Amino acid sequence: MPLPHPAGRLVWRARQAGPILPLSPASRSHRMSDPSSLSLAPFRDCLGEGGLLTDADSLTRYTHDQRALMQGETPGVLRPRSTAEVQEIVRLAARLGFGLVPQGGNTSYVGGATPEPGRGQLVVSLERMNRVRAVDAGGFTLSCDAGTILADAQGAAEAQGCLLPLSLGAEGSCRLGGNVGTNAGGLQVLRYGMTRDLVLGLEVVLPDGSLFSDMRTLRKNNVGTDLKQLFIGAEGTLGIVTGVVLKLWPAQTQRATAWIQLAADAPIPEVAALVRRETADLASTFELISAASLGLVADMRGADLGLSAGPGGAVLLELSASSARIPLEDVLLGTLEALMEAGHVEDAVLAQSERQRREMWTIRETIPEAEKHAGGSVKLDIAVPTSAVSAFLARAKALVEAEAPGTRLSFYGHVGDGNIHFNLMVPAGRDRIAYTAEVEEGVAHAVYAEAIALGGSFSAEYGIGRFKRGLLARYGDPTRLALIEAVKRAVDPHGLMNAGAMIPPARS
Ligand SMILES: Cc1cc2nc3c(=O)[nH]c(=O)nc-3n(C[C@H](O)[C@H](O)[C@H](O)COP(=O)(O)OP(=O)(O)OC[C@H]3O[C@@H](n4cnc5c(N)ncnc54)[C@H](O)[C@@H]3O)c2cc1C
Repeated sequence: MPLPHPAGRLVWRARQAGPILPLSPASRSHRMSDPSSLSLAPFRDCLGEGGLLTDADSLTRYTHDQRALMQGETPGVLRPRSTAEVQEIVRLAARLGFGLVPQGGNTSYVGGATPEPGRGQLVVSLERMNRVRAVDAGGFTLSCDAGTILADAQGAAEAQGCLLPLSLGAEGSCRLGGNVGTNAGGLQVLRYGMTRDLVLGLEVVLPDGSLFSDMRTLRKNNVGTDLKQLFIGAEGTLGIVTGVVLKLWPAQTQRATAWIQLAADAPIPEVAALVRRETADLASTFELISAASLGLVADMRGADLGLSAGPGGAVLLELSASSARIPLEDVLLGTLEALMEAGHVEDAVLAQSERQRREMWTIRETIPEAEKHAGGSVKLDIAVPTSAVSAFLARAKALVEAEAPGTRLSFYGHVGDGNIHFNLMVPAGRDRIAYTAEVEEGVAHAVYAEAIALGGSFSAEYGIGRFKRGLLARYGDPTRLALIEAVKRAVDPHGLMNAGAMIPPARS
């Protein structure tokens, strides 16, 4: 059954992806004097050629957070090549009194991997530890160094007919250790879950230089407390992850993708639930996209996208299967019919080729860049229970309109994990940083309160890092906070690891 095609005017354009993560221009004002200082010499001796960076030009890349909201400072960047070298530099740092900031791809949205000015923290970049250690295509597991770029890990799995389902906009830059540190989610959480759901084993260098080695491919191993869980989402505050074992799935050999225009007031939780039921959980992606976000992409391109949102927004829906025996397109068409019969969907377009599919994805992936192009946004990283997504959006939109009339919103998200990027666009002519501070001190709290009232969270996928530690202190459950600090004291009594991230500096 061919679905109605919006005016038959789709113009599929070649992918125009630019660099995902433009770095801010280097500011000379914060550059440090050349610290070929004696105190760093032991690190140079230990790591050899290219293992220690101290010149100002090289450091810039590691000292800015990727949105250039914070300019950090470090005397040097350590670039170990092996777990043994990580152990060695951790011991040296402890002996010489340097704090350490583990860093992967430096794509954190919350300054999690940014060394704090004035603290003399050394960055430990795992970029030279990028070896795929093993792929077990029969057991469906992948073992890698923690510095492996996520896209490379996906490629290694794919080469063996397997799927590593962790997938996010930063996958060409972020590294597995950072994904573990932030418990990254992404585009396929609906079906496969977040990093925590994918990790089978970890190898972690602890703050005393000892090695927690649990690089097992075992799926069941009930031998007491599952300690590796401590390090997932710990944002580098408990140790440096050096190795990761991940679960794999059979490779997706066919996909069916649709762009859906939602009817006015379409109940998103019900739509997502119906999709799951009708597709027998074959949906790997259910991305909600607001009309406003789509408009930003069109503005940036200066052209009609050929795809539009309905009055209730749009959804990028993708089903996938590892076997040709599944009639995937029929399943998708039947599901869309059911959605239309229920009155949730006005119209839908099926991708008829890989090129069309890629274009749908490119539109979705371009939204952050389009927000930047339009002057930037203040990103509120909300999660609510999936069943509360529509209620949250209705309340939060009304609240922003009441408290900050005329504010342009752009929202989108992975409905699978209840994650909504609820972003307030910086008004024309306003300074981005000043506006961010104004929103974060004002209307953001009202939005967070709505999310929390619905059983949600003020931090979904970005983590706490340095930008949200005040929010954690304000909204976090006191018992939970006390436990986080107790664990930190037990594992890292001298506060060596990523001091200032998650826990306020005075307490870490
Ligand atoms: C364009 C874009 C899209 C994104 N999309 C998503 C998304 O869909 N879902 C999602 O969850 N997140 C998303 N993110 C944010 C996400 O947290 C990161 O992209 C990614 O998980 C971080 O990996 P990284 O290697 O860049 O880590 P970094 O930014 O380098 O570090 C992040 C944190 O992990 C710690 N860390 C890094 N390496 C290690 C290590 N080896 N051992 C211990 N701790 C370590 C750091 O100290 C820091 O606290 C996105 C970011 C961008 C820029």
